[in-house]
Amino acid sequence: MIKKLTVLGTGTIVPVSGRTCAGYLLETDSDLVLLDCGPGVLHALADINIDYTHLHHILITHFHWDHVSDLFALIISMNIRSGGKSQLHISGPVGIRDMLHQAKKYLFQHQDDYIPEQLQITEVTPGSFTVNDLSVETDLTGHTDRSLCYRISDDSGKTIFYSGDTVYNDRIVRLGHRADIAVIECSHSEHYAHPEGHMRWPDVQKFDREAQPEHLVVTHFYEDFLADTIMDQYAEDSHITFAHDKQEFLIK
Ligand SMILES: [Zn+2]
Ligand SMILES: [Zn+2]
Repeated sequence: MIKKLTVLGTGTIVPVSGRTCAGYLLETDSDLVLLDCGPGVLHALADINIDYTHLHHILITHFHWDHVSDLFALIISMNIRSGGKSQLHISGPVGIRDMLHQAKKYLFQHQDDYIPEQLQITEVTPGSFTVNDLSVETDLTGHTDRSLCYRISDDSGKTIFYSGDTVYNDRIVRLGHRADIAVIECSHSEHYAHPEGHMRWPDVQKFDREAQPEHLVVTHFYEDFLADTIMDQYAEDSHITFAHDKQEFLIK
């Protein structure tokens, strides 16, 4: 059963103090599932006293560096800790197998602890699959040609939606519909001139109206959004949380 979601990073590839890149930890009765693994996520796990060797399944939304770079560090760290016997299941868009294998050639040529052959890799396309006891539904977000969002549910119906990076569209509304928690990217304020590939605040408001999640958790902030007054305007709104790093959400 889903118990807790911890936001490990609310930042983007453009550094902002105190905001690590994308990573979200889902805790169930029996499992830890990581959603995305951007730079800083491994250290954020250490900061909240989560032993990364207990991670067995990682869901990746897309291949941008702010969502994947610590994956490589995690693979190596796991093998260092386990003496080369780590078991890691990584699911992500089509191409993730090639990305992880090609990294050996270019990034980790002489690094014996990076062993892509040992990974269990699943390339997922729009549709449904399971992660142990969890049901997962995925669809394309339109941020890149194969970027994905995930709707994750347990047997009791508790549901988390994670948009990854996205543009507004009916698919994220469908997968986010009535979720207990919808984690939605909001890269920019409405004044940002070139939001291509990302959500601005009015898009997030539209998503909220259409998908009607129980709780809206907003994340993935660029500097222009943080400089705006939006977070102050909604500070008292209990339905919306503008997440900060290492913020925990209990799912009841
Ligand atoms: Zn991103
Ligand atoms: Zn991206």
